[in-house]
Amino acid sequence: MLKTDILIVGSGISGLFFAMKTAKKRPDLSLVIMAKETAKNTNTRLAQGGIAVVTDLSADSFEQHIKDTLEAGGGHCDEEIVKMVVHQAPERLKELLEIGTSFDKNEEGKWDLGLEGGHSQNRILHHKDNSGLEIEQKLLKIIKQLPNVELWENHQVIDLNTDTKKDKTTCSGAFFYDKKHNRIKYIRARTIVLCTGGCGQLFENTTNPKIATGDGVAMAARAGAQIEDMEYIQFHPTALYSKSQNPLFLISEAVRGFGAYIVNEDQKRFLFKYDARGELATRDIISQAIFKELQYSAQDYMYLDCRHLDQDAFSYHFPMITSHCNENGINLKKDLIPIVPAAHYQCGGIKVNQNGRTGVKNLYAIGECARTGLHGKNRLASNSLLEALVFAHQASEDIDKTIAAFTYSSKIVIPKFPKAEQSNDYHVFDILKKELQILVTAFYTSGNCNAALTKAKIEILHEEAVSLIKSHEITIPFIEFSNMTATALLIIEQCKKQNTLSDPIKN
Ligand SMILES: Cc1cc2nc3c(=O)[nH]c(=O)nc-3n(C[C@H](O)[C@H](O)[C@H](O)COP(=O)(O)OP(=O)(O)OC[C@H]3O[C@@H](n4cnc5c(N)ncnc54)[C@H](O)[C@@H]3O)c2cc1C
Repeated sequence: MLKTDILIVGSGISGLFFAMKTAKKRPDLSLVIMAKETAKNTNTRLAQGGIAVVTDLSADSFEQHIKDTLEAGGGHCDEEIVKMVVHQAPERLKELLEIGTSFDKNEEGKWDLGLEGGHSQNRILHHKDNSGLEIEQKLLKIIKQLPNVELWENHQVIDLNTDTKKDKTTCSGAFFYDKKHNRIKYIRARTIVLCTGGCGQLFENTTNPKIATGDGVAMAARAGAQIEDMEYIQFHPTALYSKSQNPLFLISEAVRGFGAYIVNEDQKRFLFKYDARGELATRDIISQAIFKELQYSAQDYMYLDCRHLDQDAFSYHFPMITSHCNENGINLKKDLIPIVPAAHYQCGGIKVNQNGRTGVKNLYAIGECARTGLHGKNRLASNSLLEALVFAHQASEDIDKTIAAFTYSSKIVIPKFPKAEQSNDYHVFDILKKELQILVTAFYTSGNCNAALTKAKIEILHEEAVSLIKSHEITIPFIEFSNMTATALLIIEQCKKQNTLSDPIKN
């Protein structure tokens, strides 16, 4: 039977950084990283703006970064966690630099620090406008050199195996689908670390790639872990509008930090009506303002205006955004960029302590799937890559101390999985997924109206999916769809009236 000391589910920044640190410190341990598609297919790879770290103590301070994070979080952050993350940031940055990660510098050889909404200072380290790709590539290179780490691509974890004795649940392994061999298998592990990212694919408009289906949250909930704050889904205000694309291309927050305006159909700026910081207000405020304007004007999109900016400097700083706009026929010198808010980040998730531990023994969660207390109601821009690094470090240190007490369990409760079989009927699940996205988006953006009705409709969709597997034996799309419906129901359950995108906006 397959076994590994530590199973890491996910190959984004949290999974890779955790694996690198743990494997280097503990060459005696075996680590397996599973990714449901290729290792590169992550939210991490798409991160543009960069990573928030206080590096210039003459202009900035830890206290200001802490204050900005707490303010963005709307009084719902865990202050001790915020302090821990902000204070650890320089050390974690040093570790990224040690493996050759490069961030841009200015002509004086100092960090070229970007400014993003909600930050009172320029403090975002970035690699052009593709910071996540740079970090992921460097981490993957190191991971492939470590003899005690194996990277299993196209291996999709289906469920966790748990054992409950005297009200204490322990996680001891995972069932997974090996896509290449078309088989469901089981792996025993002494510790499992979920690094499965977010759930943006639940919404019609999202910046998240197809892998972001809330698998980790759904699996952890089934295993008995506590899930919190799922009602706080962050919408990014400036995704490039498209009727047909999913995910939508992101126009980084840093573009507004660089001086771009948000304007309406009449080419007028309107954000100052909603917040004195205008384009530099936090994402929740700007997204809400745009939703309001869309409602009033019955338009499908608003615009980002970059025409007044120094075009050479713009394309130097944002080469990927410039070329993507050009490829889509948008000339930044002359044209406005059509934009819509899009689901971007899951602020809540699997509840963990300061070391990434869930309430289930031997089960950890880090990165976007975890609810650490850092983000509160609304994540401050560029704090999530940082959170992933800090919690990967914390979990790695914790597991180093505790793993000696964790032995392999031989007890396996084999659930009844539908037969693993590829099928041409996958498009049926695409249709069901689309219907789910419409329901969740309508619920979330309409002030959480009709929770009971939306819940009932989602349950009907799930029933339809169940009837499909009986007749067609479609396994993997079914399992993913089940995770999506489970996560959607958690969002609906945890939604509170006051956190809605259509709430009256306070000036
Ligand atoms: C367009 C975009 C831009 C962003 N820009 C920034 C930014 O500038 N700064 C910032 O701080 N944050 C940014 N973010 C957010 C940030 O990128 C993510 O929060 C972060 O990268 C999440 O990392 P992660 O390791 O938790 O998950 P991910 O990077 O999403 O990785 C998830 C991994 O889990 C795997 N997985 C999922 N389910 C399963 C399963 N069932 N079985 C096996 N594997 C599974 C996936 O295959 C993948 O490997 C951005 C996000 C997006 C979408």
